[in-house]
Amino acid sequence: VPSSNIRNFCIIAHIDHGKSTLADKLLQMTGTVESREMKAQFLDNMDLERERGITIKLQAARMRFMYNNEAYCLNLIDTPGHVDFSYEVSRSLAACEGALLVVDASQGVEAQTLANVYLALENDLEIIPVLNKIDLPGAEPERVSREIEEVVGLDCSNAIYCSAKEGIGINEILSAIVQKIPPPQDTAERPLRALIFDSYYDAYRGVIVYFRVIDGTIRKGDRIMFMASKKDYYADEVGVLSPNQLQVDQLYAGEVGYLSASIRSVADARVGDTITHYSRKAEESLSGYKEATPMVFCGLFPVDADQFNELRDALEKLQLNDAALKVHIPFQEEFLSQKPQVPWDLALDVGFLVFFIWKFQERLEREYNLSLITTAPSVVYRVNCVNGDTVECSNPSLLPEPGSRRSIEEPFVKIEMLTPKDYIGALMELAQDRRGEFKEIKFITEIRASIIYELPLAEMVGDFFDQLKSRSKGYASMEYSFIGLPSLIVIWARNLNCFLIDTNLEYCTKGSELTLGAFVFSKLCIHIVSGDGRACIGSKVIASEAISAIRKDVLAKCYGGDITRKKKLLRKQAEGKKRMKAIGRVDVPQEAFMAVLKLE
Ligand code: GDP
Ligand code: MG
Repeated sequence: VPSSNIRNFCIIAHIDHGKSTLADKLLQMTGTVESREMKAQFLDNMDLERERGITIKLQAARMRFMYNNEAYCLNLIDTPGHVDFSYEVSRSLAACEGALLVVDASQGVEAQTLANVYLALENDLEIIPVLNKIDLPGAEPERVSREIEEVVGLDCSNAIYCSAKEGIGINEILSAIVQKIPPPQDTAERPLRALIFDSYYDAYRGVIVYFRVIDGTIRKGDRIMFMASKKDYYADEVGVLSPNQLQVDQLYAGEVGYLSASIRSVADARVGDTITHYSRKAEESLSGYKEATPMVFCGLFPVDADQFNELRDALEKLQLNDAALKVHIPFQEEFLSQKPQVPWDLALDVGFLVFFIWKFQERLEREYNLSLITTAPSVVYRVNCVNGDTVECSNPSLLPEPGSRRSIEEPFVKIEMLTPKDYIGALMELAQDRRGEFKEIKFITEIRASIIYELPLAEMVGDFFDQLKSRSKGYASMEYSFIGLPSLIVIWARNLNCFLIDTNLEYCTKGSELTLGAFVFSKLCIHIVSGDGRACIGSKVIASEAISAIRKDVLAKCYGGDITRKKKLLRKQAEGKKRMKAIGRVDVPQEAFMAVLKLE
């Protein structure tokens, strides 16, 4: 197919607005996937994703479409729908010339959608508005079109009305893709530059890289180089996604495909990196690549200490699989000598918050048959020491001694919440409770508002998103970005074996509200270590009530009684799939780790 007959596009949609259903229909209508081999939602191909009905991994599919008696090759590049993946979304957008903007005609434009539309506009994509679910009695495509025009400034006079479920409007969408989205430029003669928009680890073939050829040509057997990681390999296999992998000899500028090259770790071929030829290198890599910086951490323990080695092996494999996962083993020696006192930190990249941690935990448990405890996710604080050193710190037990610290910096995010006006109050209260600093409120239509706050990342990693959803009856949505590390005055307290850290002086002086502002991690320490469930600075009790409910749960089971009885209980609960973990002298059930996130 000449490049003038190629169209590369993606679908931008808020979660549940029908992206997967529409993608399936496009594949069906173009005969790419036969109905009988069509599993529900072909693009969501990990079991876990299908079970949960969410799209985690980016995928791509090549379709053949006849238009005016000419064959066109349409490449659909899927984008993840979850709030935590804006970097991945931006890379898959960069691989396209156009996008379908799918909006549920019975709902409206959501914050996440908006953010992605802006990303698409920044990448100069042609945007085709599609109003989905017009079969629903509550559908108001005209109203929602107006909303898109007002909010995005996109002409919706030719918006396509569609029902992905009923198969209405699908042909119009395919035709619009050919008519409106520009073909890729024919730059096959230039030195190779291909943009990686996804990669995953395959146990037999090594890392499989999904890419869009921007310039040049890539052939099977070529010696290639990844410009950011500077690693070079021979491309054993090059192919297209139809949507199953199909080998071809070469791919030209404008095409989308995959390659395998016996790459052992996804870190060598990360999303956003540029593939070039080893012997004819491109002068400049493609823009937009971002290095991963660990920002969110959680501790991970095997319930049964005997499973430590298995956990380590499993994590090593997972790390090959996922560049987002970084494992730190600060006290490996201690672990190996069977004294697991310090959590094994699992560092997750920017954007991989609670959601992803649960995903990893589930995979480890399912695929490797491990029983695990994860502690509440925490974030990386930067400690500036008196002697000029800076220490990155994710765990209270790793902090430098009080006398040697000058200040502590805490990562902040800017969040934008989009909500129907009825929930403005509830959401502002939520942000304020989480040490949020109000920035701006705007009405984007008569009934929908955008509220902007800045708040500490630590306040967002817990149940913030859940709270946003429940306080708005599911109608609000949010988007966030990192804004750096403002300096804070920090008060330190040591109670029994527990460090209590507050990043906000006010909370301490005001008294009892500390738990809300403290490290999530230290919340856990508080009720584990302090037997009576109180946290103190000196003799002053600064947090007690908030944790008493959990304390009952946790400590009632754990204190008193002899050690063998406790061990028996522990074993029984482990068998019964109840997760308990011994930390110091206390056994803590998984529920407690979760409960600290949900103090309300
Ligand atoms: P995604 O999260 O954007 O991938 O959304 P899905 O494709 O998974 O769809 C979310 C829900 O909306 C599913 O229950 C679909 O069956 C339903 N849905 C999708 N398209 C339509 C449509 O055109 N009409 C109706 N009534 N429901 C739809
Ligand atoms: Mg989906």
